[in-house]
Amino acid sequence: MQTCPLSEGTGGALGECANPHFELMSCKSPVWAQGLYYGPQSGWSPLEKRMPRKRQNEKSVLKKIAGSFRSSRGQGAGHSVALGMGDDAALFRPKPGHEIILTCDWFLEGTHFLRQKHPPDAVGWKCLARAVSDVGAMGGTPRCFLLSLALPGTHTGRWLDLFLGGLRRASSKFQCPLAGGDTTRRNEILISVTVVGEVRAGSAVLRSGARADDILYVSGRLGEAELGLWIIRQSAGAASKKNKLTRKHLYPEPRLALGQWLVKKGLATAMMDLSDGLSSDLSRLCAASAVGARVEKVKIPQVQTPDLALKHGRDPLQFALHGGDDYELVFTVPPRKAKLLPKTFRRVRLTPIGKITRKRELLVLEKNGRARQLIPGGWDPFR
Ligand SMILES: [Mg+2]
Repeated sequence: MQTCPLSEGTGGALGECANPHFELMSCKSPVWAQGLYYGPQSGWSPLEKRMPRKRQNEKSVLKKIAGSFRSSRGQGAGHSVALGMGDDAALFRPKPGHEIILTCDWFLEGTHFLRQKHPPDAVGWKCLARAVSDVGAMGGTPRCFLLSLALPGTHTGRWLDLFLGGLRRASSKFQCPLAGGDTTRRNEILISVTVVGEVRAGSAVLRSGARADDILYVSGRLGEAELGLWIIRQSAGAASKKNKLTRKHLYPEPRLALGQWLVKKGLATAMMDLSDGLSSDLSRLCAASAVGARVEKVKIPQVQTPDLALKHGRDPLQFALHGGDDYELVFTVPPRKAKLLPKTFRRVRLTPIGKITRKRELLVLEKNGRARQLIPGGWDPFR
């Protein structure tokens, strides 16, 4: 399908469709308007029914997005964006002596969130938080982001307002301004966020740096987000934002300050964020470092599982080992440096859960010392 020039490349400005030919052929063609590419969607959620619909077009959607972020342009890391929205592409001004970190993340309706369940502002917060988390996992600082957004015409009103509210809060919290993007109309809500970050040249912490005998640490508690998702799936209707147990799933807090501090102090030999679950992500870290790991079951900081979940056979250990979306950090520290690590960092617990081994095996040690193999069982979109 032919696309509007705004679709060309990344970093395209959130400006108007300037080429009249493209405008006629794609953006506003009668074929498009009759809905041949775009049939009415069945199963509207209660959330949408409550939302009044106001006729929008691409110009008004772009204006709304740009307007949402106008006030945040000059804030915090905004100085890195020499030119933001409004031209063909953004201009990024890197700090001398730094390397640029690039990362992108899909956040798709039906795959990563449910339109009927997830509040729009949580979708806005989380699509940026999870992308920013990858910058923190390298020990870097996010500087700006690009947003690719496809959504149905029915969602350009209140849903978009609430989505932008959550996104703006995340942008402000992580000091990561919007530098540009692209938008189009589509049956499903499709979001892709690209984050540009920085780290002092040569100091990024990679997955590949773990060495035998390094101590394995995790931040926070594991399995909280998975428990939250389970609760949301069990309950009828849209997720409540007031439930503490679902907060981590809806509004994750990437450990940016911790990642940056570990880099500054030179403590971590390897690091990554826990997006897919400890069993899957630790396996990746070990593979990248060509090492193995032994995790002590009793040391894993688990979530307190409510009785209802226990009744349904939901084991907190399974949440902790295989639950995704926590966006905590897993990192390795040489034994001689371990004493320099505090027990908590900004009220987030740092827990040693095991150690790195030369032998390339992933094991969980039971209380009685028995070892069993830890098989990656976290989130996998193709499974
Ligand atoms: Mg990651």
